[in-house]
Amino acid sequence: MDYFSGIVDLPWWGYGIVVLVLTHISIAAVTIFLHRHQAHRALDLSPGISHFFRLWLWLTTGMITKEWVAIHRKHHAKCEKEGDPHSPHVHSLKKVFWEGAELYRKESKNPETLERYGHLTPEDWIEKNIYSKHSAKGVALMLVINILIFGPIGLTMWAIQMLWIPVMAAGVINGIGHYWGYRNYETPDKSSNILPWGIIIGGEELHNNHHAYPTSAKLSNAWYEFDIGWMYICILETLGLANVKHIPSVLVLNEQKTICDEKTVVALIEHRYYFIHELRHAMDSDSHHRFTLDLLQEIQSVWEDKNAKIEDLAAKLETWCKKVTSLQVASLDAFAQRLRMSVLK
Ligand SMILES: [Zn+2]
Ligand SMILES: [Zn+2]
Repeated sequence: MDYFSGIVDLPWWGYGIVVLVLTHISIAAVTIFLHRHQAHRALDLSPGISHFFRLWLWLTTGMITKEWVAIHRKHHAKCEKEGDPHSPHVHSLKKVFWEGAELYRKESKNPETLERYGHLTPEDWIEKNIYSKHSAKGVALMLVINILIFGPIGLTMWAIQMLWIPVMAAGVINGIGHYWGYRNYETPDKSSNILPWGIIIGGEELHNNHHAYPTSAKLSNAWYEFDIGWMYICILETLGLANVKHIPSVLVLNEQKTICDEKTVVALIEHRYYFIHELRHAMDSDSHHRFTLDLLQEIQSVWEDKNAKIEDLAAKLETWCKKVTSLQVASLDAFAQRLRMSVLK
């Protein structure tokens, strides 16, 4: 008698491809649905697509939307400080990398986190009665489905599926994404872009870009960067299944502008981490002078002053530019000229 080998019989590499596709769908669900749509409201999704992602996450991760969203928003709110659920600078990189899923589980049991950061997540009938109430049953069902379709090897495929999100999302992004890589933006946290091509982790590799523009639906910014999650969002939008609500405005130089005005302030505030990055670079590139941090602190006070009128901020910024120019350092002078010409497209 033949042993049971499932409905589908594939060559060995066929199972590998199936696993890659299945885990990639989970990655897409995490980055598009949980992260960009639910946690940051960067885009809207049609109910059909939303439900598909929720079902898929229930089957392959057992994570509850409200918990994931709340923990993630808390990460942004407390980034790299006491209370950040998974900072490798608060905990160690070793701990976040190897025990990231454990840190996540621990924080998900904190009712204050869910109360304070879990707003506007699904609370419909299916959430209360199935996804949240029986959060572990989805992955059990997935195991049965895998074995029925693929036979005993379905168990191995299932095990890889179960490990994929904890390792890639909790370990790699939360650990490495705040540790190793390059930075385009001088954000107040230690976030980094792990790789310029965001494919394996759906674009989440571009984690420094994300912390610079947290409400953006698109994570790639430089011309050489690629965000596959954004590609999927564009396809969904073309099909009428998604609606992008926010991406960063394009920064352009208006050569006619020789003075800081309100438009400069608007451009500076939207792209503040880019400008600090450029300013630091300009300060570092001049080896003859040693600058104090005053220049950085003074420019930061422009957007930190939430109550000031925009015309006053423009005047303050122009005063700052004049001060910088008076230092007679070529790199800083060029920075001030560029800042004065900067506007949003
Ligand atoms: Zn982060
Ligand atoms: Zn985020």
